[in-house]
Amino acid sequence: MERRIRPARRAHLALIACGIVLFGPPWTLAMIAVAAVGFWWMERGLPQRRHPEYTIAAAWCLAQLGIGVAIALTGAATSYAICWLAIPVATLPARFSLRGVIAGVGFTLAVLLAATVIPDPAQALDDYLYILCAAVVVVSIAIYGVPLMTSDAEHRSGSLIDPLTGLLNRAQLETRFEELAYQAQVSGQPLAMLMCDIDHFKGVNDGHGHATGDAVLRDAAYAIRRNLRPFDVVYRLGGEEFLAILPGTGPIRALAIAERLRSTVELGPTGGVPITVSVGVSVLSADAEDRTYETMFGRADGALYAAKAAGRNQVVTADPPGSSSNRLFVREERRRRPVDAPDPAEQTPQSEDA
Ligand code: GH3
Ligand code: MG
Ligand code: MG
Repeated sequence: MERRIRPARRAHLALIACGIVLFGPPWTLAMIAVAAVGFWWMERGLPQRRHPEYTIAAAWCLAQLGIGVAIALTGAATSYAICWLAIPVATLPARFSLRGVIAGVGFTLAVLLAATVIPDPAQALDDYLYILCAAVVVVSIAIYGVPLMTSDAEHRSGSLIDPLTGLLNRAQLETRFEELAYQAQVSGQPLAMLMCDIDHFKGVNDGHGHATGDAVLRDAAYAIRRNLRPFDVVYRLGGEEFLAILPGTGPIRALAIAERLRSTVELGPTGGVPITVSVGVSVLSADAEDRTYETMFGRADGALYAAKAAGRNQVVTADPPGSSSNRLFVREERRRRPVDAPDPAEQTPQSEDA
């Protein structure tokens, strides 16, 4: 954000400098120089600082102090520079929490009082309306800025996070997949996609009500999330469908993880209602040629469809371990497994994914 603000700040300082050159005593340019030096110091190595917010706050306070000195030396309560104090206040809500905004407004009011009362208390009393109006502008800008900024932040996170489950929604799914697929290619690692769909979920809504259906969705999402690693990404595609992308995960481990998700959900409890999920798995090998989201998603979706068709509550992969074909493979000992496919349980994840 500081990088984006930089050109605006330079334009703003240049504008004030032009105003001073044209109308004010030129020596007040020194105050602009103080602010410019403060911001230059702030920008240096900001990303490396442990607490960049303190550095930003210090530079911000320095700018307000510079304006305060300019006010004190150019007529105090009747100074033309008094309105300048409001400009840095406009940047507070975007940079700091409510606590920071309150502190910034308090600091600005203190500077305003000090710059107008200390040089000439009698004049400050006579022209108290100037001071009062400046204080109203400062406080009003902050009052408007906080809800505007909060609503913007909520809007942005609301467009990414599904409010019911707390999982990501599909807004950024394809972009994220492309990043992860590229990373996988560069690092020579596979990438797995798991598509989970709750079985007969409509029956849960019909039999137990929509609120219980929501509780089931929340618990199922939580069960899926807690069975994955922190860097795996999980999305709610909509309704009762969830999609997980697992970096560095080959076909054997993907099957094992999918099976773990399936059995965790089956063991429940999910919203107090026994439910099951079907899972479709597809894996992008490091040397795969077609690396598009559509292909990967289509194969996981096809595998999920096969899991549903095979009776639900099971995992099907589009990539049988040890084979590069797209033939479907049902990971379900009770049902069937191609005779030529190795048993995933006999292979360690390390030997596969190393
Ligand atoms: P299948 O085993 O084939 O997946 O059957 P299903 O009943 O799970 O699938 P279907 O697509 O027929 O029904 C999905 C239901 O999910 C229908 C819809 O009302 C319900 N649903 C979608 N979003 C929500 C939600 O946010 N909350 C609740 N409670 N229900 C939802
Ligand atoms: Mg379903
Ligand atoms: Mg569905």
